Amino acid sequence: MEGCIFCKIARGEVPAQPVYEDSQVLAFRDVNPAAPVHVLIIPKEHIPGVLSITEENVGIVARMWEVIPKLAGELSVAELGFRVVVNSGEGAGQSVPHLHFHLLAGRPLTWPPG
Ligand code: AMP
Repeated sequence: MEGCIFCKIARGEVPAQPVYEDSQVLAFRDVNPAAPVHVLIIPKEHIPGVLSITEENVGIVARMWEVIPKLAGELSVAELGFRVVVNSGEGAGQSVPHLHFHLLAGRPLTWPPG
């Protein structure tokens, strides 16, 4: 989508620090990390958020989940423990309207999150 910052990152028009890429999915470091390890996993195609997941695009969401254990291993946080967070809507803190999973690790992660 034209003005979407994550679409621009996926197209290589805005720089990012990628940690994983395939034909459908990209993962890169969060520019404002909330933990020592803070990676965003996004679909390359524009899906605005959780509410836009459909039968047609759920395959790419499954692929995003498939990437997570791979990333946890590569980032050496699988044993330590990590959290995957998805904010849906402004009320939950979603600031970028392009589906993304936050992978957070490297500090004590309390529950419930704030
Ligand atoms: P959310 O608030 O759940 O929508 O998460 C959006 C995340 O994207 C925030 O943690 C931001 O720090 C991060 N973010 C925004 N712009 C960029 C960017 N250009 N590169 C990397 N991370 C970004």
